[in-house]
Amino acid sequence: MGASDLLAYLRGSGFTLTLTDEGGIGIAPAAALTDDDRQAIRDQRSDLLVLLTESPASVIATPDPDRWCWPHSDAMNSAELAEFMTRRARLMRWGWVESAAEALAERLAKRGRDTDDRVSCTDCQHYRPGRCGNHDLAGLQAPDLSRDLAGLLQRCPGFTA
Ligand code: SF4
Repeated sequence: MGASDLLAYLRGSGFTLTLTDEGGIGIAPAAALTDDDRQAIRDQRSDLLVLLTESPASVIATPDPDRWCWPHSDAMNSAELAEFMTRRARLMRWGWVESAAEALAERLAKRGRDTDDRVSCTDCQHYRPGRCGNHDLAGLQAPDLSRDLAGLLQRCPGFTA
């Protein structure tokens, strides 16, 4: 691994590398470095110093934070994660227990992966906890809406995003 790759690897792993006042390399959190990391840094020390002296933007592209996430793996990428957090918070405000809120929020955040066009009442403007404000158009006989139904992915003619 060359110095550029090593620097990208360390930054991508969450380390901050800086030049110290004494002209050395400051790394935080140093305690998290492995023995192999320390050896690699020692091996590349002079090249790392050169890289850290130059403009970081011109030398090292900021690693893509989603490089290990969907579609490269099953892990949620940052867009999905933001969606997940927003929905999770909303569902918990509505009184959902955390595990149920997380399960539905994750399912909805990952829905775009397989172009699933079904919706959840919890994303609908007409939804209020326990009630549908558009039940006629939705084809329901009454406005009452159970949590189980609200969490079900479905195609509803009354849905408004
Ligand atoms: S209109 Fe349909 S999607 Fe919207 S809350 Fe009512 S049943 Fe759910």
